[in-house]
Order: sequence, then structure tokens, then C-alpha cells
Amino acid sequence: MSSAGAPASRFAPSPTGLLHKGHALSALTAAQVARDIGGRFILRIEDIDAERSRPAFETAILEDLAWLGLEWETPVRRQADHLEDYAAALERLRARGLIYRCFKTRAEVLADIGRAPHEPAQAYVGARLAEADETARLAAGEPYAWRLSIAAAREALGASWGDLEFIEEGRGPNGERGAQRSRPELSGDVILGRKGLGVAYHLAVVVDDARQGVTHVVRGEDLFEAVPVQRLLQALLDLPTPVYHHHRLLTGPDGRRLAKRDRSETLRALRASGVTPEALKAELGFG
Ligand code: GLU
Repeated sequence: MSSAGAPASRFAPSPTGLLHKGHALSALTAAQVARDIGGRFILRIEDIDAERSRPAFETAILEDLAWLGLEWETPVRRQADHLEDYAAALERLRARGLIYRCFKTRAEVLADIGRAPHEPAQAYVGARLAEADETARLAAGEPYAWRLSIAAAREALGASWGDLEFIEEGRGPNGERGAQRSRPELSGDVILGRKGLGVAYHLAVVVDDARQGVTHVVRGEDLFEAVPVQRLLQALLDLPTPVYHHHRLLTGPDGRRLAKRDRSETLRALRASGVTPEALKAELGFG
């Protein structure tokens, strides 16, 4: 890539709905970080979820960001165009025995978590099935997910497991800032892919951030908890670790965090009601 080496920040929305004020805060923060580091500003369309992604939402994202006055590098990377990159990363992990097939249904996984009261909520830890059982299930065409084995990852990294750190330059949900110790074991054996459906979020993000030379990941603090798994994947795949910049989440009139269902707060609705980009930027602290 021609501009590799130059610092870069990114805004990485999923085209599963219209952008709202919270996305504007994210995009403006990422663009500000790019200016601060004298780097590139990248827009990435995270459309690996084919069920929920819509081309019309992607068009709306581009229009809304242009309305905000933002400019980004082209061509824009769309995850759906790069599934082979993610499949290759998954294969590298598989070849080293770092992932395993999990045939459990969601209900079975939840029941398993319920039976291990000392595990933190949602941290599922499983194991590869015995070969004969796995072969039989595969032959029967049973669906499965690829899970990252925390135990195998810990063994693969050896002593460097304890060095899994990252730098937070924004703030986490509890005010975390500066060097952070990464504890991926708290997330358990996360899903990295599914039979026939390709890759899951964590792996696609890590591969893309490295491919695009992203040095500064900017996003809402709800994704702070995603860093330890992503940091671990960077270590396992030999990819660089960017600096992280998480930002506060906006809340709607009801005090709850803004979500795609809050129609009145979409950039479209604000624009239709006469709000100007300047007024919105000023409200979000970019006056
Ligand atoms: N695509 C994700 C979202 O829209 C953001 C992923 C990230 O910034 O790492 O929530």
C-alpha cells in the first residue's frame, strides 16, 4: 500500500441502519485524531453481516459524512469484498491448533456458562471434540462455529502472554487511560467464524486495521471490552497493535445510549429538521 507507514485513524461503521449523533461523534473524533497525528483518515464499511447490511445504508453513510464536511481516503474498503483475507487468517489460526469447531447451540452454551458460576458472565470456555465425534458431526452436516481456544493461545504465546498490553489514549468506561494490561481470558473462547458464513467481527477488524495501516483505532467506549481479544489476535497473527482511542457514548432524551432504533436522532432527521452541520459539530464539541 503506497501510504503504508503514515499514521492513520479510521471510522468503521456497519451499514445496518442510518447514522445517528453518536456515529457523528465517532467520525468527527477519528478525523480529529487523524489531524492531530498528521495522518490519514480512513472510512471502512463493515458489511460482513450480509443479513443485516444494506447498500442503501452504505450510500446514506457516505452522504451523511460528506454533509458533516468529512473527507476520507478512497477507495473505501468494504469487508464483504475481502472475505478471502479473513478466511486466510482463520486458516492460519486453524493450522496452529488455535481454534476449534464448536457444535453447541446457543442454548447449550448458555447452559454451560450457567453451570460454571465462577466464570464471568458470557465467558464460554470449551474444547475440541474427540476426532471421531467431530468427524461424525461433520458428516451429518451439523452447523458449527470456530472458537478461539484461550488455553491454546496462552500456550502458544508462552511467557509473552503476560506482555499483552495496549495504550488507551481516549478513555474506557471506567476512565481507563494509558497503558492497559490485556486479559483476553475474561472473554473466554470467542467465536471467530461460522460454517459457511465466514468470519466474525473480531478477526475482520484486526486483519483490516493491519492491512490498512491503522495506527489509531477510534470508536465508542462500548467496544473497550473488545480490545483484549483483538490484542491477542494481533499477537497470534503477528500484526502490529494500534493505539486505542475510545470515546464517551451519547445518550438520548430517555437517558439510554443512542442506538440505530432512535430515529429522531439520525443525522437524516436532524438535517430534515433544519440542524446545520456547523451546529451539530459545535454541539458535539468540534466548534
Ligand atoms: N463496525 C463496528 C460498529 O459499527 C465498529 C467496529 C470498530 O470500530 O472496531 O459498531
